[in-house]
Amino acid sequence: MRSVQQLLAISILFITACSPASDTIRETRFMMGTLVEFTIYGAGEEQALSAVTAAGSEMQRIENLFTIYGDGSNPVKAFNQSTPGTMQTLPTEVTTLLGTALEVEKLSGHAFSPSLGALNRLWGFSQTQAPTLPPPEKEITLLSGASFACLQYSPEEDFSRNNSRCELDFGAIAKGYAIERGMETLQSHGINHAIINAGGDIKVIGTHGDRPWQIGIRHPRNSGEVLTTIEAAGEISIVTSGDYERYYNYQGRRYHHILDPHSGVPAVKSRSATVIASNATLADAWSTALFVMGREGLPLIREMGMNAILVDGNGDIHYSKNSESRLQPSRSAPMLRTSEIKTDP
Ligand code: ADP
Ligand code: MG
Repeated sequence: MRSVQQLLAISILFITACSPASDTIRETRFMMGTLVEFTIYGAGEEQALSAVTAAGSEMQRIENLFTIYGDGSNPVKAFNQSTPGTMQTLPTEVTTLLGTALEVEKLSGHAFSPSLGALNRLWGFSQTQAPTLPPPEKEITLLSGASFACLQYSPEEDFSRNNSRCELDFGAIAKGYAIERGMETLQSHGINHAIINAGGDIKVIGTHGDRPWQIGIRHPRNSGEVLTTIEAAGEISIVTSGDYERYYNYQGRRYHHILDPHSGVPAVKSRSATVIASNATLADAWSTALFVMGREGLPLIREMGMNAILVDGNGDIHYSKNSESRLQPSRSAPMLRTSEIKTDP
């Protein structure tokens, strides 16, 4: 869990990236383990506040539905305790997101996996008490084997797990989905120009008056420094997975919370992976997948009609634009300019 100071620092970075205006309303809520910041332009205060309240409760509902942490019960936790080999009926909302996650798993060659909950718990990065040293190798091997491609499903979209260590974990996709639904809620309240920023996972709609929104992407090593700024107008999601928020150093190596399902250990090919797409759910899942794949994943991201900024394991920055994409050219070719991409020191 991040400290309030760290969360404020992240938040301030993005506030400075968007120059303040008196017709811009900002509201924050704490959820999904982070400060979620709503920025709304061109709406009255009362309208903006009721829209943010509704969006906040929709996002909280999604967190409660998908989280595998905390004391509350939900269908995902129940699935994770179900008897292996028995088909379980999950709510449509869960099977729909799981379907998307499994598609990303397949297309990414298992760089992304929605079934590594047990392995993630073993590493302990999502627990309140941050870990300080890696778990025993024997346990990593055991759990990564048990977590790898361990879900079965029936034509009716019932799911089962093939062993008792196979556990769902929506940690790499649910925040994007929550942002997506939060933005839909804002729009249903008549908001046409807004940013939702959940700790650096961002969706924007509309513009900031007669200018595009300015979105700063954090430098993965120099905290407080912006790697690049994206100008965004229209419906654009900008989601980053990085190795700099939940990590520790042990014997000269950085251990962080994005795991390579093939090896069961933290992925080593990237420092940060930003995916830019219209849909926040996909941007979230693919930023995690790209982080694991490293620069070899960039052609796939491009082919899927998305844009990316990747800082690889050596600190080199790769910017990948989808302008040649034939798959989804209109939705995924947002007005987007990167200004000044700095090289790492
Ligand atoms: P963040 O949660 O910091 O925004 P991500 O979207 O990359 O970052 O999600 C990381 C979380 O997703 C981890 O905390 C864990 O719950 C889960 N996870 C870790 N590695 C993977 C992976 N390779 N595929 C899918 N989920 C993962
Ligand atoms: Mg993600």
